[in-house]
Amino acid sequence: MADFLNSCFVCGKENDPQTTKKNQQLNLPVCDDCSGTDEEKKAVNELTEGMADGFVCGCI
Ligand SMILES: [Zn+2]
Repeated sequence: MADFLNSCFVCGKENDPQTTKKNQQLNLPVCDDCSGTDEEKKAVNELTEGMADGFVCGCI
């Protein structure tokens, strides 16, 4: 299992925590390859949906 804090949350590639960017919404590391991509947005959505369970009003 990869260390979540040192890996890109989108592709799972290991990052150097000193230089890696962080996704502002989730405060998770994201590599240059994934930063700003649709894949990143998709991963953000999936993670926020999971974490926000119970916090969202559910109005669609
Ligand atoms: Zn990545």
